[in-house]
Amino acid sequence: MSILRKADKNLIKELNRSAVINVIRRHGPISRTELAKITKLGQSTMTKIIEELNNFGLVNEIGEANSTGGRKAILLEFNKLFANAIGIKIMQDHLIFALTDLQANIIEKKEIYFESSSDTQLIINLMKDTIKQLLIENYLEINNLIAIGIAVSGLVNGKEGVVLSSPLLNWNNVNLAGPLKEEFHLPVLIDNDVNAYTYAELEFGYGRNSDQFICISIGDGIGASFVIDKKLYKGEYGGAGEFGHSIINVDGRPCYCGQNGCLETYLSNQSLNLTAQEFFSRYPNSDLFRKSINYEAITSAAKNGDPLAFVLFEQVSKYLSVGLINAINIFNPKKIVLIGEALLGKDYFIEKAIEKSKNNFFKRSFDSEIVLSDLGNDAWVQGAALQAINQLFQPPIYEETNSLVSS
Ligand SMILES: [Zn+2]
Repeated sequence: MSILRKADKNLIKELNRSAVINVIRRHGPISRTELAKITKLGQSTMTKIIEELNNFGLVNEIGEANSTGGRKAILLEFNKLFANAIGIKIMQDHLIFALTDLQANIIEKKEIYFESSSDTQLIINLMKDTIKQLLIENYLEINNLIAIGIAVSGLVNGKEGVVLSSPLLNWNNVNLAGPLKEEFHLPVLIDNDVNAYTYAELEFGYGRNSDQFICISIGDGIGASFVIDKKLYKGEYGGAGEFGHSIINVDGRPCYCGQNGCLETYLSNQSLNLTAQEFFSRYPNSDLFRKSINYEAITSAAKNGDPLAFVLFEQVSKYLSVGLINAINIFNPKKIVLIGEALLGKDYFIEKAIEKSKNNFFKRSFDSEIVLSDLGNDAWVQGAALQAINQLFQPPIYEETNSLVSS
C-alpha cells in the first residue's frame, strides 16, 4: 500500500470539509447523525470539521430536533448571513442586479437601463457603480461581499471570465471578470444565462429531486442546459446547449449562425415577427399589426381574443414540439424543465406542444416528464449569484486568499 503524502492528506481534508459544508448548505438544519449518514465520514473527522466550520462562523448550532425525551439533538445550520454575494444578469438594454445572502435569497434587486449597443466599458462601469451603491444602501462594506456571479447570453469562457460571443448583445471577446476583479478583489464568475438559471433550478426548483434533467429556455434566444448527476454538462469548450441552432428545416429561414432553419429562427421572440408577417394579410384587423411582437405582446393579444395571436401560438406550438422530440430522442431525459419569457403564454401553446412531443422514439416504452419552471424571473440573478457561491465551497475552500478562509 502506498503511503499518502502530506499534500494528499490535505486534499482529503479539503474534500471532506467541502462535503460537510455542502451537505449542511443543501440539507440543513441537519443532525450530526444524518450528516454522517450522507457524507459517510467517521465520527472524529466530522466532529473536527464541524468544530472548525462552527468556529469560523459558517455553521451554526440550533435548537433541538424534538422533545421526546432523551438527549437533545442539536441541529447544524449553514450561516447564510455569513457574507453576501452579487448576481447580475445582462440583458440587451439593461442590467439586473441582486444583492443576496449565501443561499442566494435576494436582499435587494436593481434594474439599470442603458442604450442598447452601448460600449462594454460603459456597462462594466455601470456594474461597478451599482454594486457599490447596493452595498451602501444596505449598510454593507466591500468586506461583506464574497463573490460576484454574472449571467450572460452566448458562449462564455468561464475560466478566463470572458464573453467569447454573444450575438444577442453583439459582444465578442469581452473580458468581464478582469475589470471587476481588479475593482473589488473578489472572485467573479461568469456563465451562460441558461446555465445560471439551471443552478437556481438545482437549488430551489425541480433539481432538488432530480439528478438528471434538461432545461430549455425560450425567449430572446433558445438555449438549453444539461444536468447529469446534479452537475451541469458544459461540453469541451463550455458551449453545450446551443439547442436553438439545431436545424429543424434544411431549407428554412436564414440564421445568424450561418445555417438555415435553426429552431431559434422559429421560436425566439424575434422570429415571431417573421411568422406574423406571413399571416398579416389574413388578419388585417389584428392588434398585433405594426407592433413589435414578442411572447409578452402575443400573450396579451390572445387574452383579448386576437385571432392572429392564436395562429402564432399554433405555429410556436408546432415548432416547440419538434424541438422537444429532438431533445427527447437525443438525451432520453427523465425530465425537461421549460424556462423563459415564452412561459407567459403557457396557457395558449405549451400543453399542445407537450402532447405532440409524446410522439417520440420512446413512446411505447416510457415518457419524459415535461414541466414548467415555477421559479420566475428572479431565478436568473439568483442562479448567477449561486454559481459564484457554489464555487467558493468547492475544495479546497480554505486555500485562496479570496476564499472563505485564508488560513
Ligand atoms: Zn442558427
